[in-house]
Amino acid sequence: MHHMTLAEIARGLADKKFSSEELTKVLLARIAQLDPQLNSFISLTEELALGQAKAADARRADGESGALLGAPIAHKDLFCTLGIRTSCGSKMLDNFKAPYDATVVAKLAAAGTVTLGKTNMDEFAMGSANESSYYGPVKNPWNLEHVPGGSSGGSAAAVAARLLPAATATDTGGSIRQPAAFTNLTGLKPTYGRVSRWGMIAYASSLDQGGPLARTAEDCAILLQGMAGFDPNDSTSIDEPVPDYSASLNGSLQGLRIGVPKEYFSAGLDPRIAELVHNSVKELEKLGAVIKEISLPNMQHAIPAYYVIAPAEASSNLSRFDGVRFGYRCENPENLIDLYKRSRGEGFGAEVQRRIMVGAYALSAGYYDAYYLKAQKIRRLVKNDFMAAFNEVDIILGPTTPNPAWKLGAKTSDPVAEYLEDVYTITANLAGLPGLSMPAGFVDGLPVGVQLLAPYFQEGRLLNVAHQYQLNTDWHTRTPTGF
Ligand code: GLN
Repeated sequence: MHHMTLAEIARGLADKKFSSEELTKVLLARIAQLDPQLNSFISLTEELALGQAKAADARRADGESGALLGAPIAHKDLFCTLGIRTSCGSKMLDNFKAPYDATVVAKLAAAGTVTLGKTNMDEFAMGSANESSYYGPVKNPWNLEHVPGGSSGGSAAAVAARLLPAATATDTGGSIRQPAAFTNLTGLKPTYGRVSRWGMIAYASSLDQGGPLARTAEDCAILLQGMAGFDPNDSTSIDEPVPDYSASLNGSLQGLRIGVPKEYFSAGLDPRIAELVHNSVKELEKLGAVIKEISLPNMQHAIPAYYVIAPAEASSNLSRFDGVRFGYRCENPENLIDLYKRSRGEGFGAEVQRRIMVGAYALSAGYYDAYYLKAQKIRRLVKNDFMAAFNEVDIILGPTTPNPAWKLGAKTSDPVAEYLEDVYTITANLAGLPGLSMPAGFVDGLPVGVQLLAPYFQEGRLLNVAHQYQLNTDWHTRTPTGF
């Protein structure tokens, strides 16, 4: 049962082959048995899950239908869940029970999903390896000595290990696409503003975007359908109709113009990944796509710009965690300053403190123009590159990551080495564009992802290309041994 995709589950439930309650029990037992190896969950919500499953079964018995009605999922632990711990992977929020549901959580619950638990993540979504979590690192089911990617590493490892069919995640600089690539999943970061950020604990508000992690493009379409849409509670949410994503999957790729940026194949890219990217291009050519070399000349400036803007916004967003109103408070503060200092010093981990310091520095009066303003200018140039490219092509294709998943601990003492791994993903966040990573082969037994980028609101086009690719390849069906 645990091998079923969301689409298969929806058919099975509709055909009364099993109930949501039966499926939920099977998956909860599987999580109890296998998750100790992976550490992909921070909290399990068995009682909530069984209640939601029974309710979904009752709604179906009453004649209701829907692809998500009775579908088991999990939420990355930065989506607020009413009355349930929402830790953001941090000691700071270890004791925080959210007083409301995030819009994404509420929308998916209304569609009938069953929440199995909250997944592990890098602390405050800062990281690319899931090693900065207060709850310990997550292991990659493809090789338990390797990282699953981050920051949505818990969601990725759980779905890859068939503990559940799909999960929510967020992507500020790659945290949906990169863990998808590292664990052989399909992950979609929507256009900025497509999915509500209300109740999604903020890291860098102008970059953060929620989206689906699943095994197939078809399942990403189903989960995105339940997540997307205008939300008056989020002032950056966009009031555009949500298309039927599942209906977009079957379009022909005949004549589709795919741009492959020449800058993507520079020295930092593992040549074996380059070869797999070229293979995926050939596959899409067979399906009728036309390939064109393009250029994104400002790409080389994106990492430095991102690692100024994201920490700057984080330093502002995280100032609310002061030991007074939310979460952790130090013991016996001597005075207010001591309360602030020690609550933040003890509650935040090293990477979060590093980002707050970098961000506060970049925003300080003497350095604002030199760093923050400069970074914003680069951000515009990165966006302009994409706008020019999308005048010539419909989709941009390249590697999701320069290397496959590294070994646990390999980069923990060198944060910049880890930042450099985000080179292919962060540009989409700077520009606000939608991006998808899909499985495209293996290197040393570790999965490799190919990234597709599209113009604003063309999530359907990304899902269409990925689905057609998946109808003609079987990388996405490979299962890690032992799971
Ligand atoms: N690795 C990037 C960072 O640490 C992106 C993280 C994310 O997308 N949440 O900022």
